[in-house]
Amino acid sequence: MDEDLLAIDYCIDCGKCYDVCHIAKVTGNKYTPKSKIMLLQKLLDGDELEQEEINDVYLSTRCGACDDVCPMNIPITDIIQREREILAKQGKEPARTTQISKNIIEAGSPGRMDASIRNSWATDELEISDSSKVAYMAGCWIAFAHQDIAQSTIKILNAGGIVPRTIPEEKCCGLFLIDNGHVEEAREHAKEYVEYLESLGIKKVIASCPGCYEVLGKEYTKLFRKPEFEVIYSLSLFEQLIDEGKLTPKKLNRTVSVRDACAIMEMSDIPRKILSSMGVEVKEIFDRKNGCCGGPAGVKPNFPEISSKTAMLTIEKFKDTPDGTVSYCPFCYHHLEGVCKEKGEELDMQDISILLLESIL
Ligand code: SF4
Ligand code: SF4
Repeated sequence: MDEDLLAIDYCIDCGKCYDVCHIAKVTGNKYTPKSKIMLLQKLLDGDELEQEEINDVYLSTRCGACDDVCPMNIPITDIIQREREILAKQGKEPARTTQISKNIIEAGSPGRMDASIRNSWATDELEISDSSKVAYMAGCWIAFAHQDIAQSTIKILNAGGIVPRTIPEEKCCGLFLIDNGHVEEAREHAKEYVEYLESLGIKKVIASCPGCYEVLGKEYTKLFRKPEFEVIYSLSLFEQLIDEGKLTPKKLNRTVSVRDACAIMEMSDIPRKILSSMGVEVKEIFDRKNGCCGGPAGVKPNFPEISSKTAMLTIEKFKDTPDGTVSYCPFCYHHLEGVCKEKGEELDMQDISILLLESIL
């Protein structure tokens, strides 16, 4: 029998996945992790899904919170990806999902941005090498929307004695393709990008975006092969430079909340250690568990209202932190900032690299 169907059979309807899913919460449990996976049988039988059922499959950011709590170890996000793969082949995926996937493949970014300005964050005040084997990958959200994160990251690396190069033809990591079941296209994308980076002689890629870090560091190996370069998360490097005494942060004496990144929850100690080295206390809001922002994997473009409502769950909880919120995911940052503007909400939020730079200057 099909392994995923076998796994679904073990569901004991405990409701644990409902409790952690922000999308289930804002839709009054109309769309739950469980309701999504239960559609697999129908799809494998070749039956057509109703529009509401299709919406259910696409109303997931694939944040992974449900996987983490399922007592029966049902691979919920893998099943959602598989369902999306079948729907995409049937030509039933949302039109925006098809368009964004095309943008990534044809133009190298989800928003079909002008590739010639991708590296425009790399200004003369930054020390950047032409020939280093260590490259910095900003990722789409930083390169096109939050260039200050790339600039502060490079300044911190420079202060710690690291002078990386840029990637002349940097492109989207392809996470959206993976999340939406465009597996073959993601494989081709991974192959092209890995071979390109290797052709530059790159041995290490420093990534600021948790999504890029996961995709280049783990997903490409599954999709294509292990790259000849190592992928390093920028915050891990900051932590190392602080431990080695190459960076000595001054005490800022503040209390902040932390916006964790779903993609790398297992690394959530790192930003807290960096903050502690700056004398910054953390007020824990979500008990170190995921509190999905509601943006990724196509939820924002396809279901803007539900996406905004989901973001508001996070924004409401973060609003009362004395000295603001620190983020280390550029996509969360971008999405939450956009929803605040749209709803007239104030949220004092900063990327951790901006704060660390302030403390080492
Ligand atoms: S991955 Fe996240 S958004 Fe998707 S069903 Fe699971 S908890 Fe909900
Ligand atoms: S957590 Fe797992 S077992 Fe419980 S309802 Fe959700 S899918 Fe079923």
